[in-house]
Amino acid sequence: MKKSLMENVTPIAWNERIHFECHHCGACCRNVKDSVPLESLDVYRIARFLQSQDKSLDSIEHLLSLYAEPVPIHECGYFIYTLKTVGSDDACIFLKDNRCTIQAAKPRACRTYPLVAEPDDSSSFQYYLSMEKSHHFTGRKFKARDWMNQYFTQEDRAYVNADISAVPEIARLLRQIPETHKHRALFFFLQYKYTDFDLDQPFQEQYERNNRELIASLEAMIS
Ligand code: SF4
Repeated sequence: MKKSLMENVTPIAWNERIHFECHHCGACCRNVKDSVPLESLDVYRIARFLQSQDKSLDSIEHLLSLYAEPVPIHECGYFIYTLKTVGSDDACIFLKDNRCTIQAAKPRACRTYPLVAEPDDSSSFQYYLSMEKSHHFTGRKFKARDWMNQYFTQEDRAYVNADISAVPEIARLLRQIPETHKHRALFFFLQYKYTDFDLDQPFQEQYERNNRELIASLEAMIS
């Protein structure tokens, strides 16, 4: 099972200031097996970025097969993708010479590090500070608010809210799918959550439509 991003974190206030400096040591990107989530929006952005660099990457399925691992997070079958790791130190597959090779499109979890945003019960967000790698807490001070305004974009927020609001219904339906249909249901899940996107079209509208179609497909399988 996935190592939670919410391990070793402490809540942080919006106005709180912390010291943080990236030493380009690559430590955040090692020992990350099963722990860097690739959300649907991350996958869409990375696919667009890599296709602009490497025309041989022909689809999102191809990207997932090369760079991602599915990780179950619930017995109903709900799964997420995480970044693949390589080597004895379980380094992220995109880490080369202590540098991120997808800097312009790196996943949300990497972009907002050392802060983590989690939705709360009021469609807003609670912010946490990752306490791992304490040697980073030197250098210039920044406000949590400024950091998140820069790295946790409006597009991220719209995606997270849409994703979280669809989870209970999708999980409820997955729990009801008979074992004989489970494989097909998870294929639909993969398709609508991750792969059925036109990379030339904006993400959010496609994502919300896909969630509706996933729910309709799962409902049809249990009716
Ligand atoms: S995507 Fe980039 S920043 Fe994130 S873990 Fe991999 S190398 Fe590090």
